[in-house]
Amino acid sequence: MTASLEKPIPIPTEADRPYWDALREHRVVLSRCVACGWLSQRRKMMCLQCHSEEFDWAEISGRGTIYSFTAVHQTWVTAFKDHVPYVLVSVAIEEQPSLILVTNLLGEYDFEELEIGQPVVADFEPCGSEVLLQFRLQGADDVQS
Ligand SMILES: [Zn+2]
Repeated sequence: MTASLEKPIPIPTEADRPYWDALREHRVVLSRCVACGWLSQRRKMMCLQCHSEEFDWAEISGRGTIYSFTAVHQTWVTAFKDHVPYVLVSVAIEEQPSLILVTNLLGEYDFEELEIGQPVVADFEPCGSEVLLQFRLQGADDVQS
């Protein structure tokens, strides 16, 4: 078996195609329960809050805060060999802080200065034929008046 040099990504399905299409346009949309408004990253069979089976897609701000983070120094996946060390971050999104999204933390920063609760904004990384949702630290340019 030959090792792939391309990073593995989640496989899009027809059911969550709108999520992936939005990322190409640098927008973040999440699956939203029509009955109670509960958000999830990928389309579920049933709402985990109210058991409704009806969903639509809702665009979110892309803002959130760091819930936790860790630095990855070692990898056994060839495709990530040239990327270590990198930082994985769990992000509580502004619209529903109980929804935690796990991504890479892109951009320039000092790992020692990262803190839980720091504001982050969505960023978008082309990967193969798709665009991945990532986050980066919120900068002065991102603050909306
Ligand atoms: Zn619901």
